[in-house]
Amino acid sequence: MTPSDLRASRQTGQHPFEVSFEFFPPKTDVMEERFWESVHKLAPLKPRFVSVTYGAGGSTRERTMRMVSQVKAETGVDAAAHLTCVGATREEVDQVVRAYKTAGIKRIVALRGDPPGGVGQPWVQHPGGYTSAAELVTGILRIGDFDISVAAYPDKHPQSPNWDVEIDNLKRKLDAGATRAITQMFFDNTAYYRLLDRAAAAGITAPIVPGIQPIHSFKQISGFAAKCGAVMPAWVAARFEGLEDDPETHALVASAVAAEQVLELVDEGVTQFHFLTLNRSNLVLALARLLGVRPN
Ligand code: FAD
Repeated sequence: MTPSDLRASRQTGQHPFEVSFEFFPPKTDVMEERFWESVHKLAPLKPRFVSVTYGAGGSTRERTMRMVSQVKAETGVDAAAHLTCVGATREEVDQVVRAYKTAGIKRIVALRGDPPGGVGQPWVQHPGGYTSAAELVTGILRIGDFDISVAAYPDKHPQSPNWDVEIDNLKRKLDAGATRAITQMFFDNTAYYRLLDRAAAAGITAPIVPGIQPIHSFKQISGFAAKCGAVMPAWVAARFEGLEDDPETHALVASAVAAEQVLELVDEGVTQFHFLTLNRSNLVLALARLLGVRPN
């Protein structure tokens, strides 16, 4: 489809767009209420899957498992469990994978995870643990025929010394049997296009799905971005400047910025989107509607 056909298809109900939504496992009853409210609002959009993250250091193992199983049981939507190698032996990680297999969960987002001291600290493998996401992918596929997503980084992973190492690693994860990559949040689409070009040059053919993080709160999201090595361009920061005490305008700017990012990607032929919801549905619902993705 040409870019103008793609844009037009959003109005017809015959569009090719596919979306997935990322949530985090709630810690409190109040947070759990918001989680379910958002899941129930987004599930009727028939996403390809809803994914639930895994807390730093494996700290949410039980909660992630519970939410993933319940999402699938309550909404019928396919659920994907994020899983990391941090703080666990291979056998412990394998046990989690076997539990998903038994529970009928067929999708895993396979990650190495950050070092316990944060991504600025060197990675130290847990004794007897998996050393990298590529190894984890191999381990998971030994247990069952899972649909596996892995991470990709438009702004380069902070621990990769250069792009050759970065792309080699991405290729290793996909060659190990992952079906797709999902990107880290990024705010300048040209970084994503460059990643696609580098991946294509390395012979990578699997989809690299953009991870879209709406900027609900500039302070919070720019903090997350700094922690994970995602670049917050000065021109994006300038759009939110001075809006700390003006939540209404901040929210309008956030939707405009996210809409602009998504529609620019559509103009470049992108048809799959992974939305990071932070367990809120409104802005993501609006973005999906812009793509023509509405409840049937
Ligand atoms: P890997 O692909 O293993 O790479 C990590 C680093 O090691 C890279 O710099 C890579 O170049 C390098 N490397 C790997 N193998 C080699 C090798 N053989 N030689 C040289 N260098 C090598 N974190 C969580 O804790 N929970 C989550 O739920 C979570 N979800 C995420 C979802 C997405 C879509 C993304 C993009 C990230 C997510 N993360 C999550 C963050 C992720 O865990 C961190 O970014 C982590 O630091 C790297 O994980 P990875 O799977 O990319 O690791």
